[in-house]
Formats: sequence, structure tokens, C-alpha cells
Amino acid sequence: MAEPQGKGELLPEDVCTDDCLTSYTHIYSPDLLKDQVAFITGGGSGIGLRIAEIFMRHGCDTVIASRNLDKLKEAAKKLSAASGRRCLPVCVDVRQPESIAAAVDETLKELGRIDIVVNNAAGNFLCPATSLSFNAFKTVMEIDTMGTFNTSKVVYEKWFKDHGGNIVNISATLGYKGQALQVHAGSAKAANDAMTKHLAVEWGPSGVRVNAVAPGPISGTEGFRRLGGPRGEAAGAFQSIPLQRAGNKTEMAHCTLFLASRVSSYVTGAILVADGGAWLTSGNDVSMMLGIASSKSAKL
Ligand code: NAP
Repeated sequence: MAEPQGKGELLPEDVCTDDCLTSYTHIYSPDLLKDQVAFITGGGSGIGLRIAEIFMRHGCDTVIASRNLDKLKEAAKKLSAASGRRCLPVCVDVRQPESIAAAVDETLKELGRIDIVVNNAAGNFLCPATSLSFNAFKTVMEIDTMGTFNTSKVVYEKWFKDHGGNIVNISATLGYKGQALQVHAGSAKAANDAMTKHLAVEWGPSGVRVNAVAPGPISGTEGFRRLGGPRGEAAGAFQSIPLQRAGNKTEMAHCTLFLASRVSSYVTGAILVADGGAWLTSGNDVSMMLGIASSKSAKL
């Protein structure tokens, strides 16, 4: 059953670890993605894993693609056991187009089609611009931005160009106000938001929709832990968010499902902000953020 929490709506079920849900209540038809195939980068952990699970619970087979094959194999086993659908783990570094091309070829050979791409792989950490090395900035741009372009382009050329399809990019709101200590991720995701619109314009005539989900702080994720989320939650920092809480991974998966499915058939080039209103009211005080960053790194 969905869980009552706070005032207002029922929240969908979630678990804080990289495990599958112990129960799930469908909001949409369980057949919504029946017999479709989704290629999900970073699908072995966090938000990407929950997206894979929710898609599979709607009849989809998935490919989960990232660098750590052991982690992916373990995740694929859990996902198939929870949903009864196929999940193919593939080793990919999104910075290397040839590794994506090999994974897409394997997907087409094993599963015969690709209907959905979710560009979710990313790297993130807190760091003031003055301490950020040239290499660290470049690496985040390469994973988040080039990785999104590389994956989209490989799938477009090998399949979407002739069959249409859906791309959902997992973005962030960091660049909206220039979030302190996040120049790397904020810049990368801002570029991705522009890319979402450029590719929506160029590929719409081929039947390809391109959209994005921009999550706020999402509990039970590495991003949330690294960015000081649990500490902030305990200190009541989320009281300033209009919806007064962090989001959960299943909520992000539902937003992604909306954009990846025929529910949103006339939507393209859109960025769905799913942050409980957080960026409208969140603090952006550099010295306070530096305090969080230094207490974090002291613990590492
Ligand atoms: P996560 O669990 O750390 O997921 C990131 C994934 O990306 C990992 O599975 C990682 O797998 C993969 N990855 C990293 N570098 C890669 C590379 N070079 N090639 C292929 N895969 C790579 O993080 P998350 O917190 O769930 O975040 C998921 C997405 O949501 C990200 O795009 C993030 O920016 C966005 N987001 C998250 C939050 C939040 O609160 N968590 C807020 C806003 C936006 P390997 O290590 O196996 O490669």
C-alpha cells in the first residue's frame, strides 16, 4: 500500500537502500510499457535502479548500463525477481561512445528493440570552485553532459532514427540559482537542459520525444548522502521546502514513467521539476554550505 506521510497526498512506497520495493501500488495501468525496452544509464543504483524497477513493474524489459558490472549483475537479479521481466546488465562508460555502441548492439541482439532511453548516469560531490581541479570539472562535464549526448546519439543512429522513441534526461535544479559548491554539476545539467530542447527540436520529426525530470533532494540516494541530506533532514532544513520534505526515488520514477510513456504523448522539450518546490525557497548561503562541505569531508 502507498504510505500516508505528512499532510495531503499518499506517497508511493520506497526503500532507502538499493533494493526493490517490498510492495507496490500501481497508479497507472500495469501494462503501460508492456513489451517495451528501456536503456537506463546508471540503472544499478539510486534513482536509476528505482526507475528500472517501476518500468519493469509496468511490463517493460530493461538494460541497466554503467561501469561496475558486478553491481549491475546483482541489481539485475533483484529487478527480475521483483518484476518477472528481463533485465540485461551491460558494462558502459558513458564517456566512451564505443562502449555505448557495443551495449546498444548487444541490447538489439538480445531484446530486439529500444523504446526508451533514460540518461541518469552522473557524478557529483560538493566542492567550492576555488578548490575544484580542472580535471574534476571536466570529469563531471564528461559524465553528465557528454555522456547524455553520446548515449542519445548512439541510440538515435542505431534505432530511434527509423523507429522513433523516448528520451528522458535526469537533470537537477542546481543551475537555476547558481547553487553554492555545485558549479560543476549545475553547469553540466544546465547544458543538458539546453540539449533536451535542441534534440527535441531536431528529432521530433523522427518520432522521438526528448524531455527531462529535474529532481530536488531525494532520500535513499548516494547524491543525497554526499550532499549532506540526512544531516539537513535531521536539522529540520527541509521545513523551508514548500512541501516540507525530501522526495523519494519512486516519486522520481513515476515522473520518468510519465514522460517515457504515452501518457505524455504530446510533450517534448519539457523539463519537469520534481522538487517539492525546493529551488524556489532553498538557501544558497556560501558560508553555511562550506560548513556542510567541511564537516562532510572531515568524516570521509
Ligand atoms: P547514484 O546512485 O550515484 O547514481 C549514479 C549512477 O551513475 C551510478 O549507478 C554509477 O554507476 C553511474 N555512473 C557514474 N559514472 C558513470 C560513467 N562514467 N558511465 C556510466 N555510468 C556511470 O546517484 P543518484 O543520486 O541516484 O542520482 C541519479 C541521477 O539523479 C543523477 O543524474 C543525479 O544528478 C540526479 N539527481 C539526484 C539527486 C539526489 O538527490 N540524489 C538530486 C538531483 C538530481 P557505476 O559506478 O557502476 O558507473
